[in-house]
Amino acid sequence: MNLNSRTLALLVSLAVALVLTAFLALASYFSSRGFIAALVIVFVCCFLLIYFSYEALVFREIKNVYSSFEKIKRQEFRKAEGRSLFTADPLRKIKDDIYQIAERKQQEIDELKHLQVMRREFLADVSHELKTPIFAAQGFIHTLLDGAVDDPTVRDKFLQKAANSLDGLDTLVQDLISISQFEKGVVKMEKLDFDAVQLVREVFEQLEQKADSRQISLHLEAKPNEKVMLHADPNRIRQVFINLVDNAIKYGRTGGNIWVSFTEGRKRYTITVKDDGTGIAQEHINRIFERFYRIDKSRSRDSGGSGLGLAISKHIIEAHRSFIAVKSELGKGTTLRFKLLKAKVG
Ligand code: ADP
Repeated sequence: MNLNSRTLALLVSLAVALVLTAFLALASYFSSRGFIAALVIVFVCCFLLIYFSYEALVFREIKNVYSSFEKIKRQEFRKAEGRSLFTADPLRKIKDDIYQIAERKQQEIDELKHLQVMRREFLADVSHELKTPIFAAQGFIHTLLDGAVDDPTVRDKFLQKAANSLDGLDTLVQDLISISQFEKGVVKMEKLDFDAVQLVREVFEQLEQKADSRQISLHLEAKPNEKVMLHADPNRIRQVFINLVDNAIKYGRTGGNIWVSFTEGRKRYTITVKDDGTGIAQEHINRIFERFYRIDKSRSRDSGGSGLGLAISKHIIEAHRSFIAVKSELGKGTTLRFKLLKAKVG
């Protein structure tokens, strides 16, 4: 039999009413009408009392728990926190616990799904980026094998191109290793005191030819003998400067300028790398530090890059307990800024 609160109340009330009336039957001064009236009154009172108690205390609370289940199934966690009649009720506690566990599990599931999507995207990006230089080198080598090797001019040109593609592949693999080590958190910074002015001069020398090819002028805003002594990992910071200045050249305008400057604070220097190049549209600003993110996806690896430079730079600056900020305006230029600790002496 399917017992609900009403049937249960009916049965119990009937039982109580019958027992009470049976007792009353022992009293001789009750007429048969009186028995029936007593039976009906006792039955109705018991029914109302028991029915509402069951409804309120048990069935409504259980229904509440089940409706919470339904909402949890539909992932409506906020709505699942429905009001209960009795705050100290154990059923209320069960419902709250279920709700909390379900919410936690749902968060874990969402996180795992997000990680899975990221892993899939990462694999697709990596294979796409690896494919480009491999196919290029493969093409040049096969053309040479097919006979081009006999012509010394073509041979040298194609060998050079194949070598360039493989150099690009090497840089990409190094970048991928750096990114994965940063994400695993296994990279240790080897902090030393060093002169950032000297380091930027070296970076400028390294990139001078590339800047010249686009008639871009590199400016270091420091006095001739000025030193900016920092306490950081010089090799990693060199990598950041190379990435930022290289970007400023790649995305700069022909005949443009790049400025690197230092502002002294109490404990830190603020370092600024500014260009008057193409700038970045507002909708891309927050995404340029994501790995593989490129605004102009059609740019080749020679003129653009793999989209890892800023992601690596961000990791390096964060490993120095700082952050990198960007300000940009389309057509006007881009400014990247970060702070690093001053060396204790010097
Ligand atoms: P990439 O290897 O493509 O240069 P990055 O991670 O260094 O990758 O930069 C990500 C994207 O941010 C670039 O593809 C470019 O679109 C944009 N970007 C970076 N620096 C600049 C800059 N100085 N001016 C304009 N756009 C920039």
